[in-house]
Amino acid sequence: MIRPIVLWPDPVLTQVCAAVTDIADDIQALASDMLETMYAAPGRGLAAPQVGVPIRLFVMDAAGANAERTPRVLINPEIIDRSDTRISGPEGCLSIPGVTTDIDRAAEITLRWTGLDGSLFVEHLTGFEAICAQHETDHLDGIVTFDRLTVAARQAVEAEYFA
Ligand code: ZN
Repeated sequence: MIRPIVLWPDPVLTQVCAAVTDIADDIQALASDMLETMYAAPGRGLAAPQVGVPIRLFVMDAAGANAERTPRVLINPEIIDRSDTRISGPEGCLSIPGVTTDIDRAAEITLRWTGLDGSLFVEHLTGFEAICAQHETDHLDGIVTFDRLTVAARQAVEAEYFA
């Protein structure tokens, strides 16, 4: 089921989300709906607060639009290591439609998370996956791309967004 995507500045996008303690049927259904919603948007990452559920879960698929789907569901993700090497590239956000901003991120990260089956994963992520996972983990901490800009840059993109 496709769920409506919450748009910034909805307050659910600014709160620190709660850890998932029990991967029950409602979580399975949420993850399934979020993947469907992400693919339909279309997007390559979607965090639970973006569909109005303030819990620590996001979905992503680093594959491009024409590639075979590789859906991932990440529960209670935690960035446990970041490379010193940084990269900056354009990021969009399904909750801030029409705005793309250059964001500075670690080029590589090590991410730990729980899968839908309850098993624990630790993986070194690079490239688009590293950027996407940082963007989505930010959402779980109530942070959007605007929060990572300088004051001047933020004022400019906010003016564009609200125009
Ligand atoms: Zn986003």
